[in-house]
Amino acid sequence: MYDISGLNEECGVFGIWNHNEAAQLTYMGLHSLQHRGQEGAGIAVSNGETLKGERGLGLLTEAISDIKLESLKSHQHAIGHVRYATSGNKGIENIQPFVYHFYDMSVAVCHNGNLINAQSLRKALEHQGSIFHSSSDTEVIMHLIRRSKAPSFEEALKESLRKIKGGFTFALLTKDALYGAVDPNAIRPLVVGKMKNGAYILASETCAIDVLGGEFVRDIHAGEYVVINDDGIRVESYTHHTTTAISAMEYIYFARPDSTIAGKNVHAVRKQSGKQLAIESPAQDADMVIGVPNSSLSAASGYAEESGLPYEMGLVKNQYVARTFIQPTQELREQGVRVKLSAVKDIVQDKNIVLVDDSIVRGTTSRRIVRMLKDAGAKSIHVRIASPEFMFPSFYGIDVSTTSELISANKSPEEISEHIGADSVAYLSVDGLIDSIGLDEDVPYSGLCVESFTGDYPAGLYDYEPNFIDQLSERQKEYLANHKQYFDKEGNLNV
Ligand code: AMP
Repeated sequence: MYDISGLNEECGVFGIWNHNEAAQLTYMGLHSLQHRGQEGAGIAVSNGETLKGERGLGLLTEAISDIKLESLKSHQHAIGHVRYATSGNKGIENIQPFVYHFYDMSVAVCHNGNLINAQSLRKALEHQGSIFHSSSDTEVIMHLIRRSKAPSFEEALKESLRKIKGGFTFALLTKDALYGAVDPNAIRPLVVGKMKNGAYILASETCAIDVLGGEFVRDIHAGEYVVINDDGIRVESYTHHTTTAISAMEYIYFARPDSTIAGKNVHAVRKQSGKQLAIESPAQDADMVIGVPNSSLSAASGYAEESGLPYEMGLVKNQYVARTFIQPTQELREQGVRVKLSAVKDIVQDKNIVLVDDSIVRGTTSRRIVRMLKDAGAKSIHVRIASPEFMFPSFYGIDVSTTSELISANKSPEEISEHIGADSVAYLSVDGLIDSIGLDEDVPYSGLCVESFTGDYPAGLYDYEPNFIDQLSERQKEYLANHKQYFDKEGNLNV
């Protein structure tokens, strides 16, 4: 059964054109994007004549063995993908890049994000005779391209990009060119870099350019696509119906701290959001600030600096535990959490602690951490969250697409504090977040997508609309009734 929830989620894409070590550099680039997906990885290469790929399940080192990588050598062009999968679609058939061989051309494609009209497009395509091989909505774009009557691949790509909705970036490789594309709101990021030998790089984050010693060239903006071939690089727009709304969650949680999105360094943004949080929600009589490793350390340092409290290491993360231990019993699951994260007893004992985390989604992580710190002897724990209340699902590719999994959809900060066993819980305000990121564009939310905090969906709802409306909680309804919405259900601006 085709499942609407969580098909293609937060992933990392990479591409390189014209380098003798294309596959190896793609491997290194993907390694720096590993935080964006650990369930599978793949690389497709071309030498201008043939196009082929390798893929596998798990971390990059597991998915692409030395033997597989060796087989991809001697090709100058490549794209690659790291995949974050959700339950129910973890099979190898969903691992990208997908490689297609047609009678007249070959294409490899990979994708980051989520297409919110994939289900209806897929239904329509199947009625017209399309046969899908995977449950991934990445296949939809390929069917659209092949069914297009446009005179060239580029025109067919443009036409297809205009039909899909949601938050997405694509990397495509043919024998003649490397293509990249970004959704009409630039919800998901894509950047171009250049190597010293002139080779161009395409990547979800700038950290992939930096690790290869490349130079940042530019962000690909809302509604743009890029063509890189032996003639150089060309950036065009496939639509002018654009409103910049970059996912705030990229800054809050997903991206690596050394990456820069739209000119704003992720660590600096997180640190500023921690400072802002300290101004908005100070904690009385606290002895120290600790952050939840790794994604909250930047925000915690900002909170400490602003509040004048010492920044301490109260929690240590074992960097070698790749994925959450999936264990059959609750007892073993708890054990797994302790292996991953442990409290520094001598530091937290008898102390009043400000615990900074980047977000509370389901509430399970903070509940466990608060208990762990209390078990280690902490006197009081004031939880401070460096993002607003995560009250609404996101359909644009971050794996949180149902209201039922969101604790803030039903509980106030006071109720959450009680639920997780903390002494208080406070969140950064939406305005505080927007100011901390500081994009300052002349569009709603200063150019950010903050749908999870406001229920305002810049790319619309499409296939998700009936469920979204059905599942609205009283708390969500109250929020929506009291706040202006800038976007309608198709993502058009309400004026
Ligand atoms: P929980 O409240 O237990 O669902 O987990 C929240 C924690 O997961 C936060 O501290 C984040 O570090 C992390 N997180 C936030 N958003 C996501 C996401 N979309 N997918 C996976 N982890 C996330």
